[in-house]
Amino acid sequence: MAKLPPYAVRLIDLPAHRTFEVPGELVSEWLKGLPMREALGRPAEDPEAGAGHADLELYVDGAHAFAAGTFKGHLHVACSRCVNQARLEIDDRVRVTFLPKHEMPEDNTAAEAGDEGAEVNEEDLDVFPYEGEHIDLESLFREEFVLAIPYAPLCREDCKGLCPQCGTDLNSGTCTCEKPIDPRLAALKGLKLTS
Ligand SMILES: [Zn+2]
Ligand SMILES: [Zn+2]
Repeated sequence: MAKLPPYAVRLIDLPAHRTFEVPGELVSEWLKGLPMREALGRPAEDPEAGAGHADLELYVDGAHAFAAGTFKGHLHVACSRCVNQARLEIDDRVRVTFLPKHEMPEDNTAAEAGDEGAEVNEEDLDVFPYEGEHIDLESLFREEFVLAIPYAPLCREDCKGLCPQCGTDLNSGTCTCEKPIDPRLAALKGLKLTS
Protein backbone atom coordinates (compact mmCIF):
# COMPACT_ATOMS: atom_id res chain seq x y z
CA MET A 1 0.00 0.00 0.00
CA ALA A 2 1.34 3.43 -0.98
CA LYS A 3 2.23 5.73 1.87
CA LEU A 4 -0.22 8.61 2.26
CA PRO A 5 0.91 12.26 2.46
CA PRO A 6 1.06 13.60 6.07
CA TYR A 7 -2.28 15.46 5.94
CA ALA A 8 -4.20 12.93 3.88
CA VAL A 9 -7.32 11.27 5.26
CA ARG A 10 -8.89 8.24 3.61
CA LEU A 11 -12.55 8.68 2.65
CA ILE A 12 -13.26 5.22 4.02
CA ASP A 13 -12.30 6.47 7.51
CA LEU A 14 -14.94 9.24 7.50
CA PRO A 15 -16.80 10.64 9.30
CA ALA A 16 -14.14 11.49 11.84
CA HIS A 17 -13.05 14.16 14.25
CA ARG A 18 -9.37 14.87 13.66
CA THR A 19 -6.74 17.31 14.88
CA PHE A 20 -3.55 18.21 13.00
CA GLU A 21 -0.37 20.06 13.93
CA VAL A 22 1.64 22.08 11.42
CA PRO A 23 5.33 22.51 12.43
CA GLY A 24 7.44 25.58 11.71
CA GLU A 25 9.68 23.73 9.23
CA LEU A 26 6.66 23.14 6.98
CA VAL A 27 5.43 26.72 7.37
CA SER A 28 8.83 28.03 6.27
CA GLU A 29 8.81 25.67 3.28
CA TRP A 30 5.36 26.88 2.20
CA LEU A 31 6.30 30.55 2.51
CA LYS A 32 9.64 30.12 0.76
CA GLY A 33 10.28 32.81 -1.87
CA LEU A 34 7.89 35.37 -0.42
CA PRO A 35 9.84 38.66 -0.09
CA MET A 36 8.37 39.24 3.40
CA ARG A 37 9.80 35.91 4.55
CA GLU A 38 13.13 36.17 2.76
CA ALA A 39 13.74 39.63 4.29
CA LEU A 40 14.02 38.01 7.74
CA GLY A 41 17.09 36.04 6.62
CA ARG A 42 15.99 32.91 8.48
CA PRO A 43 17.31 29.41 7.69
CA ALA A 44 15.50 27.38 5.02
CA GLU A 45 13.89 24.98 7.49
CA ASP A 46 12.96 27.43 10.22
CA PRO A 47 11.25 25.91 13.28
CA GLU A 48 10.38 29.48 14.34
CA ALA A 49 8.55 30.31 11.08
CA GLY A 50 5.20 29.63 12.72
CA ALA A 51 2.85 26.86 13.77
CA GLY A 52 -0.70 25.74 13.19
CA HIS A 53 -3.35 23.63 14.86
CA ALA A 54 -6.45 22.37 13.07
CA ASP A 55 -9.48 20.90 14.80
CA LEU A 56 -11.82 19.49 12.17
CA GLU A 57 -14.94 17.46 11.68
CA LEU A 58 -14.55 15.51 8.44
CA TYR A 59 -17.43 13.85 6.67
CA VAL A 60 -18.56 12.63 3.26
CA ASP A 61 -21.76 12.88 1.27
CA GLY A 62 -21.58 10.85 -1.91
CA ALA A 63 -18.46 11.88 -3.78
CA HIS A 64 -18.12 15.14 -1.83
CA ALA A 65 -16.09 15.47 1.36
CA PHE A 66 -16.32 18.29 3.87
CA ALA A 67 -14.11 19.75 6.58
CA ALA A 68 -15.50 22.07 9.23
CA GLY A 69 -13.89 23.43 12.37
CA THR A 70 -11.14 25.81 13.34
CA PHE A 71 -7.59 26.62 12.33
CA LYS A 72 -5.39 28.53 14.76
CA GLY A 73 -1.77 29.46 14.52
CA HIS A 74 0.78 32.15 13.92
CA LEU A 75 3.60 32.98 11.54
CA HIS A 76 6.53 35.34 11.34
CA VAL A 77 7.26 37.66 8.41
CA ALA A 78 9.20 40.89 8.06
CA CYS A 79 7.57 44.17 9.04
CA SER A 80 7.02 46.27 5.91
CA ARG A 81 8.33 49.41 7.67
CA CYS A 82 11.24 48.35 9.88
CA VAL A 83 12.04 44.82 8.53
CA ASN A 84 12.03 43.41 12.06
CA GLN A 85 10.02 40.30 12.78
CA ALA A 86 6.24 40.72 12.70
CA ARG A 87 4.05 38.07 14.30
CA LEU A 88 0.74 37.39 12.53
CA GLU A 89 -2.04 35.48 14.26
CA ILE A 90 -4.40 33.05 12.57
CA ASP A 91 -7.77 32.31 14.13
CA ASP A 92 -9.98 31.05 11.36
CA ARG A 93 -13.22 29.18 10.99
CA VAL A 94 -12.86 26.42 8.41
CA ARG A 95 -15.66 25.31 6.14
CA VAL A 96 -14.44 23.70 2.95
CA THR A 97 -15.62 21.20 0.37
CA PHE A 98 -13.52 18.63 -1.44
CA LEU A 99 -14.69 17.74 -4.93
CA PRO A 100 -13.38 15.01 -7.22
CA LYS A 101 -10.95 16.68 -9.62
CA HIS A 102 -13.24 16.24 -12.65
CA GLU A 103 -16.08 18.09 -10.85
CA MET A 104 -14.00 21.20 -10.18
CA PRO A 105 -15.17 24.31 -12.01
CA GLU A 106 -12.56 24.94 -14.71
CA ASP A 107 -12.32 28.62 -13.94
CA ASN A 108 -13.83 30.12 -10.82
CA THR A 109 -14.35 33.58 -12.32
CA ALA A 110 -16.12 32.09 -15.32
CA ALA A 111 -18.36 30.08 -13.01
CA GLU A 112 -19.27 33.21 -11.03
CA ALA A 113 -20.03 35.24 -14.13
CA GLY A 114 -22.08 32.40 -15.62
CA ASP A 115 -25.24 30.67 -14.44
CA GLU A 116 -26.79 32.25 -11.37
CA GLY A 117 -27.99 28.79 -10.43
CA ALA A 118 -24.49 27.34 -10.23
CA GLU A 119 -24.31 24.60 -7.65
CA VAL A 120 -21.52 26.24 -5.65
CA ASN A 121 -22.64 29.79 -4.98
CA GLU A 122 -21.93 30.44 -1.31
CA GLU A 123 -19.51 33.34 -1.34
CA ASP A 124 -17.09 32.08 1.29
CA LEU A 125 -17.24 28.44 0.33
CA ASP A 126 -13.77 27.17 -0.36
CA VAL A 127 -13.43 24.28 -2.74
CA PHE A 128 -10.45 21.95 -3.10
CA PRO A 129 -9.97 19.07 -5.53
CA TYR A 130 -9.15 15.53 -4.52
CA GLU A 131 -8.13 12.45 -6.43
CA GLY A 132 -8.48 8.80 -5.60
CA GLU A 133 -9.58 7.46 -2.22
CA HIS A 134 -8.35 10.23 0.08
CA ILE A 135 -8.53 13.98 0.60
CA ASP A 136 -5.34 15.90 1.34
CA LEU A 137 -5.66 18.82 3.76
CA GLU A 138 -2.22 20.21 2.98
CA SER A 139 -3.40 22.79 0.42
CA LEU A 140 -6.04 24.00 2.91
CA PHE A 141 -3.43 24.44 5.67
CA ARG A 142 -0.99 26.10 3.28
CA GLU A 143 -3.70 28.56 2.23
CA GLU A 144 -4.36 29.48 5.89
CA PHE A 145 -0.79 30.72 6.20
CA VAL A 146 -0.51 32.41 2.81
CA LEU A 147 -3.83 34.26 3.16
CA ALA A 148 -2.92 35.44 6.67
CA ILE A 149 -0.25 37.75 5.24
CA PRO A 150 -1.57 41.26 4.56
CA TYR A 151 -0.27 43.45 1.74
CA ALA A 152 1.94 45.42 4.16
CA PRO A 153 2.52 43.52 7.44
CA LEU A 154 3.49 45.55 10.51
CA CYS A 155 5.38 44.49 13.65
CA ARG A 156 3.00 46.78 15.52
CA GLU A 157 0.29 49.24 14.56
CA ASP A 158 2.46 52.33 15.22
CA CYS A 159 5.80 51.05 13.90
CA LYS A 160 8.00 54.09 13.23
CA GLY A 161 10.01 52.36 10.53
CA LEU A 162 13.57 53.08 9.41
CA CYS A 163 15.08 56.48 8.75
CA PRO A 164 15.02 56.77 4.94
CA GLN A 165 18.44 58.44 4.97
CA CYS A 166 20.63 56.53 7.45
CA GLY A 167 18.56 53.39 8.04
CA THR A 168 18.35 53.76 11.84
CA ASP A 169 15.45 51.79 13.33
CA LEU A 170 13.38 54.65 14.72
CA ASN A 171 11.55 52.26 17.10
CA SER A 172 14.72 51.69 19.11
CA GLY A 173 16.82 54.76 18.39
CA THR A 174 17.03 58.24 16.98
CA CYS A 175 19.29 59.85 14.41
CA THR A 176 20.35 63.35 13.54
CA CYS A 177 19.23 63.31 9.92
CA GLU A 178 17.15 66.27 8.82
CA LYS A 179 13.57 65.49 7.97
CA PRO A 180 13.31 64.46 4.33
CA ILE A 181 12.00 67.29 2.18
CA ASP A 182 8.82 66.67 0.24
CA PRO A 183 10.03 66.24 -3.38
CA ARG A 184 7.38 68.73 -4.58
CA LEU A 185 8.72 71.37 -2.18
CA ALA A 186 12.26 70.57 -3.25
CA ALA A 187 11.23 71.26 -6.85
CA LEU A 188 9.79 74.63 -5.83
CA LYS A 189 12.99 75.53 -4.00
CA GLY A 190 14.96 74.68 -7.11
CA LEU A 191 12.76 77.01 -9.17
CA LYS A 192 13.34 79.87 -6.77
CA LEU A 193 17.09 79.39 -6.86
CA THR A 194 17.31 79.50 -10.64
CA SER A 195 14.94 82.43 -11.12
ZN1 LIG B 1 8.05 47.45 12.26
ZN1 LIG C 1 18.71 59.04 9.98
